[in-house]
Amino acid sequence: MASLDGKVALITGGARGMGAAEARLFVAEGAKVVLTDILEAEGRALAGELGAAARFLRHDVGSAGDWAAAVRAAVEGFGGLDVLVNNAGIYQPASLADTSLELFEKIWRVNQLGVFLGMQAAAPAMRTRGGGSIVNISSIAGLRGFPGALAYVGTKWAVRGMTKTAATELAADRIRVNSVHPGLIETPMIAANTAETNAAVVAGTPLKRAGTPEEVARLVAFLASEEASYITGAEVAIDGGWTA
Ligand code: NAD
Repeated sequence: MASLDGKVALITGGARGMGAAEARLFVAEGAKVVLTDILEAEGRALAGELGAAARFLRHDVGSAGDWAAAVRAAVEGFGGLDVLVNNAGIYQPASLADTSLELFEKIWRVNQLGVFLGMQAAAPAMRTRGGGSIVNISSIAGLRGFPGALAYVGTKWAVRGMTKTAATELAADRIRVNSVHPGLIETPMIAANTAETNAAVVAGTPLKRAGTPEEVARLVAFLASEEASYITGAEVAIDGGWTA
């Protein structure tokens, strides 16, 4: 397993789902973790369980002011920032015809603006450390079109494009930037789909099952670590073969 010894990581949406699995694994691999979320009770409980190596901060990824405080929490609390996992996201399926301006802006604010603000806020702190790793959680919905999820798909393609652009811009600072594209993963998020939709995704997945948050966390930890020192600007699918 990739060691994260001595690394300081900021994980958004860390209170549950994939973000919580990443926080657990990162601490187990030796990292100090600032886990952030808008779910305060869950976030505090997880940080309490993880002990001195973890801190929780209430942080809305769509707020530039909150980002400044989150990066400060890593720098002042743990001495710097080496890894950012832009994991927070929301999913509310709606077709082109059914997507209101309000819904479009709501999804865009968290899934796209949040990733932009995060990379912009974290890069200077990573530069000070002599480098770093940013892992942006996109989706298979950032690799293909999905009928009935127009706004979500748009944000996940945007994450993929911003990742590649930031990777080329930040390479000179030894900051690597990669996107991760999960298929159907067993987290609270997939309850927004009907059971039929989820069953259809599993049926179309060569491995014939959904993935677990822990499986995604292992990929994210690898990309965050020095084991991935020559990987930047990459898009990595973790989808049981769905996009194969
Ligand atoms: P989840 O709903 O369990 O977790 C998402 C977390 O993000 C929650 O804790 C939520 O409170 C937090 N969050 C929402 N809005 C926020 C905001 N404004 N600021 C800060 N935190 C906020 O879902 P998950 O499945 O663990 O999702 C993690 C990431 O993986 C998301 O980006 C999602 O789009 C992506 N993803 C999920 C799947 C899947 O099948 N579960 C597939 C592909 C991609």
